Amino acid sequence: MPEDCVFCKIGAGQIPVQPVYEDDEFVAFRDLNPQAPIHVLLIPRAHYSTLMDMQDPGLMGRALLAVQQIARALGMEEEGFRVVVNCRDNGGQTVYHVHLHVLGGRFMQWPPG
Ligand code: AMP
Ligand code: ZN
Repeated sequence: MPEDCVFCKIGAGQIPVQPVYEDDEFVAFRDLNPQAPIHVLLIPRAHYSTLMDMQDPGLMGRALLAVQQIARALGMEEEGFRVVVNCRDNGGQTVYHVHLHVLGGRFMQWPPG
């Protein structure tokens, strides 16, 4: 684990969060700076810096199945929601431990900023 990685610490339980969802591989929790009424981050407990560092299609598929569970748990499955992965500089990534943003509770504009 990179020593200074905040999301590794959350994944390992060293920084406590109120999980919206968790299993052996993933934990989901509310974003500190929410951009929508519902704004959850889903992270793998294992460290991958960016989407481009992920190789395992099983892990990537299970991440989207976890998103389905989050959507159901938070009542977004019918109205819908948005999933975003910011990747590297042009994607606007600021935390270099890969994470999926799950945004909902309002209509999402397109195109994004
Ligand atoms: P990104 O810009 O895609 O890298 O997103 C990083 C997100 O992590 C931002 O939306 C931050 O508000 C959020 N964030 C950073 N640190 C924490 C934390 N300790 N707990 C919850 N959210 C965080
Ligand atoms: Zn990490």
